[in-house]
Parts: sequence; structure tokens; C-alpha cells
Amino acid sequence: MPDFSFLDTQLDIKVVDEEVEVIDLQGEIDPRIKLLSHSSRNLLHACPRKYELYKLKSNSVSTDPEREQESEVTLNFGSVVGVGIQSVIEGKSFDRAVLDCFLEWEIDLDAATERQNKSYYRAIYAVKKFYDLYTLGAISDYELVYYKGKPACELSFNIILPNGYRYRGFLDVVLRHKETGEIIVLELKTSSGIAQPAMFQNSGQAIGYSVVLDELFPELSSYSVYYLVYETRSYEYKPMHFMKSLSKRAQWLSEMLLDIEKLELYHKSDLFPMHGESCYSFGRPCEYLGICEHSNLQLTKPYTNLVEAYVKEDEGKYQFNVDFETLIERQLEKTSEH
Ligand code: SF4
Repeated sequence: MPDFSFLDTQLDIKVVDEEVEVIDLQGEIDPRIKLLSHSSRNLLHACPRKYELYKLKSNSVSTDPEREQESEVTLNFGSVVGVGIQSVIEGKSFDRAVLDCFLEWEIDLDAATERQNKSYYRAIYAVKKFYDLYTLGAISDYELVYYKGKPACELSFNIILPNGYRYRGFLDVVLRHKETGEIIVLELKTSSGIAQPAMFQNSGQAIGYSVVLDELFPELSSYSVYYLVYETRSYEYKPMHFMKSLSKRAQWLSEMLLDIEKLELYHKSDLFPMHGESCYSFGRPCEYLGICEHSNLQLTKPYTNLVEAYVKEDEGKYQFNVDFETLIERQLEKTSEH
């Protein structure tokens, strides 16, 4: 499975024998700021200053090995559980699913975070638990959808927005009911807390998936999203079901435009607001606490030719690319049909 972590992590370009040239953006907004995703929008809403530092990669964040390890384990844990479940749904044996998981885990096999109860072996346990549910027929009424001869798993999409902004995302699994033909999106999550429907009910993440479903099933006007959340403390899966409609997509797109307007305004004002209420969340202080008030010159990495190449390369990575105008046209067509 490809590495999708670049969506939400900072650009960390490693330079080997290549000349690095700083690019003068001449007052234009840094293209890294324009790369949106579901997680980065959450970050923007929580604290615009944190979003800015995260995107422009702070130079001066004090390194906390425990925090670093925890975030690496969390990232790998989520990817491995996702890959394992997708492998099972694709009809692979449990041993083959474990091999896929092993190949996906990118850090020390013994790395773990007790605080979140996550490790490689606990991820395998989660996959085994899903495998048992699957073999007992938990989703036997549904079949996996295929796109261009391949399983509809981890489908990537890229929405080209006004002023050079882009929203990128990945859809976990598309399933079809064997009798009714109902299309559902399976969204795989892990949580170290207690999963609550309110955590996902109004989340815009699943609305973005309509971009992919538009291509696969143009006649679709609404679809179901099943969240399957693995709780790392109870070792249980919690299923949750929500309907997503076209009207919700219209609102989601409008909110995206508002985010872009806000980013442009922050840039013009040379002020990404600090939301002090977000300095402590998920049981720990923000990694930029104590430094975020310093100037960007001290904190961020410049836009270079290598970063520019990375941003350009990112544009070509997605299976589904759609521009904003086309989305609006489709939205209007579908609205008039119903
Ligand atoms: S410490 Fe607080 S204000 Fe500063 S970036 Fe983090 S969340 Fe924002």
C-alpha cells in the first residue's frame, strides 16, 4: 500500500547532492499553505497559527522523543489496521493479511505507546478480530466494488479549488449490497478513547468521498457511510452508520471556500490567529507552546526548488481529479434531477 501520510504531515524534503535554491514568493501565499486535507482543515479550525507552522515546517520545535514515538506509532497503527482490514475484505487469507500489515509497518516492531495502547502486535490483534467477524459473516450481504479491475480500496482524489488550492483525500473501501445494489463507503478508524457517533456524524470527511462516487456511480444522489471504529482500550469494533446527501455536499463545498477566504485573509494580514483554547488538547500541550509567538523567520523552513518539485509531484498522485466548477455543475444537475 502506498504511503499516504504526506497528506497530513509536514513536507520534510531530504536533500542529497542537489542544489537547494530558495524561491522568492514575492508576497504570494506559500503553496504549502494551499494543500488542504480533512486533517489539516481540522487543524486550521483548531488554531490557524498551528496550521501555518505545521505546513511550513517549524525549525525550532523542541524534540520530545516520547511524543515523536507516540505519533509515529499512532500513524503506523492506523495504517496497519486499515491495510489488514482491506486485505481481509479483498478475500486474502489471514496469513497474507498479516504479511501486508508487516510490510506496512515502517518503524521498530517493538515500538509502542502504552498511553494509547497501540503497537504492531496490537494492530495484528485488531486485524485478527476483524478477520473473525468477517468469517462469521459480518458484512456477507455486501461485496467489494471493483474499479478498473482493481478493488475499490484506498481510492485517492484531488479537488482542484480556486486560487491554486487543492483538497486531497482517500476513500477506504466501497461496498455494494448484493441484493439491493445499495452503495456504502466503509470508513476505518481507530480510537484510544470511547468512540461516539457525535465524533463522526457531522464530519465533512465522508462528504468528500462523493467526488469518487460521482465517477463510479454517476446516478447516485446519496450514499451511506459506515464507520468501523476500533477502540484500542476495549479491543472492540464499534460500527456507526450515517447517510450523506447532495445538500450536505453543497454546504461542505461552501465551507471549503470560506476556509480559503480565511487563509487568504490571514496571509494578507500577515497574521495567522493563535487560538489559545487549543493549546492543550488530547491530554497534552501543543508542540508549539512557548515558541509559536516567535517570527516565521525563526520558525519556518523556506520555500525552495525542492519543496516546489514536491508540491508539483503531489498534483499527479491521485486517481480522481476534479475541478471545483465541474463539481458545482454536477451538483446543480443532480439537484435538478431530484
Ligand atoms: S501553542 Fe496554542 S496558540 Fe500556539 S500554535 Fe499551539 S495551539 Fe496555537
